[in-house]
Amino acid sequence: MSATVSDVDTRTAVVARELVKVYGKGDTAVRALDGVSVGFNAGEFTAIMGPSGSGKSTLMHCLAGLDTVDSGIVQIGQTEITQLGDKELTRLRRDRVGFIFQSFNLLPTLSAEGNILLGLELAGRKPDKEWFDRIVSVLGLKDRLKHKPSELSGGQQQRVACARALVASPDVVFADEPTGNLDSRSGAEVLDFLRMSVKELGQTVIMVTHDPLAAAYADRVVLLADGRLAGDLADPTAESVLAALTHLGV
Ligand code: ADP
Repeated sequence: MSATVSDVDTRTAVVARELVKVYGKGDTAVRALDGVSVGFNAGEFTAIMGPSGSGKSTLMHCLAGLDTVDSGIVQIGQTEITQLGDKELTRLRRDRVGFIFQSFNLLPTLSAEGNILLGLELAGRKPDKEWFDRIVSVLGLKDRLKHKPSELSGGQQQRVACARALVASPDVVFADEPTGNLDSRSGAEVLDFLRMSVKELGQTVIMVTHDPLAAAYADRVVLLADGRLAGDLADPTAESVLAALTHLGV
């Protein structure tokens, strides 16, 4: 059955229906996504987990409009993004989606503040001063705003990336292994912040991780195996996530 915009629950921030993504052709073709249908609630922190090669990054890239699908649809809010052209997709990513990458992806020549505000400036939007101050304060970046990324620790750089992702109040924040390059203490700070942004600021966060300890910060864990949905855990703990992964043969 094909879905229409009106089918989507208003509490649902992102929906994937029957997503198929194939890399390559013929004998060497890989079905990275093999019919994935999943919804992500607004105001919830969801972790996507699964064995290496199970399709986690592909799913995230397709959900965020960073990659195209072969079939199926993705909706962010009321917008079916799989129908959009390049220009509209670029605008949607800029205005309604926040990204946090494993490698921070900050511009080295800009200060922390410049990095945080760049997206808004490119969009010709003025930052909400109160919101900016709140985010910066919660992330403990007040006295680091004039520093360049090279003058900041890894944990501080990732906190700048978190501020950049949240400053435009996006519909959804996608985080791709956000703690992959951090020591455990800095990683825990970033995960605490992501959880807090959901609980107290109402943000929606979808995070790809291979770390059960990181996934335990989420409200829900969606498991993938061989490009298919392989499990769905509510209120995960590191133990329940490990058990589910073990069950998948990881
Ligand atoms: P995960 O993030 O869970 O490790 P990926 O989404 O990166 O998994 O990959 C899923 C499958 O798709 C893997 O078999 C991978 O080798 C393949 N794949 C991913 N990206 C490409 C690509 N650009 N070209 C060819 N195969 C790819």
